[in-house]
Amino acid sequence: MKVEEVIREKPHLKSPLELYDKVKNFVEFCKNEKERLNLDTSTDLFDVVLRNFSSLFSIPYDSISFLKDEILRAGIDPVKIPSSLLLMEIQTDDLSKEEISRMFFILSKPFFVFLRKDGVEASFMETGKCPICGTDSSISMITGNNERVIICPMCEHGGSFYRIGCPYCFNRNPDRIEMLLDDEEIRIEHCLECSTYVKSFRENHFFKYKNPFLIDIVSLPLDIIAQKRGFIRRSPNYIGLRIIE
Ligand SMILES: [Zn+2]
Ligand SMILES: [Zn+2]
Repeated sequence: MKVEEVIREKPHLKSPLELYDKVKNFVEFCKNEKERLNLDTSTDLFDVVLRNFSSLFSIPYDSISFLKDEILRAGIDPVKIPSSLLLMEIQTDDLSKEEISRMFFILSKPFFVFLRKDGVEASFMETGKCPICGTDSSISMITGNNERVIICPMCEHGGSFYRIGCPYCFNRNPDRIEMLLDDEEIRIEHCLECSTYVKSFRENHFFKYKNPFLIDIVSLPLDIIAQKRGFIRRSPNYIGLRIIE
């Protein structure tokens, strides 16, 4: 299903869906460009990422090119440690604190995706965190074989985890995990031990939407209900939102 069709079906989610689409295009453009130009040095890659960011989000390149110097000055290597971008702080009067952190979140996305190598199989079983980049995740898919695959929101790696269980505190007692379903039967699995929740969806949702991060956005109303009840989402969604009001 194309994003425009999803927007027609769910007009109340128009703005998060449009942003999702932009971020997705941005990450894909950066990935293709990295392969096409065969770039590996941090400064060249950062330049490619910034240029794509500038054109997709219609921000003049000249007004953001200073970020490259800021990053070099801070001694940050986004290729090796993409999460270092999330800790960047810059002084500017033009943007709010939230806008700045959202911008760095989006800028870091392609670098997380660059970390992932195709065909690597690594599970979330050991720590509950992404084995590639160490991020917590809040979405999982239940396969046709009734197995659970957790998907990392940052590098997009998918790996297996216990069918019933909390990846945050490893509570595996089914009586201590509660379910909450929306009208499409996308569900929230909420851990009564540590309050963490993880969404799960089935293959039929995947066949409809084709992308786990789109399913996460489509089910934003579930986050609102869950968070009103005090449940905790441990990782951001595709557009950088973790706390959703
Ligand atoms: Zn990851
Ligand atoms: Zn837990």
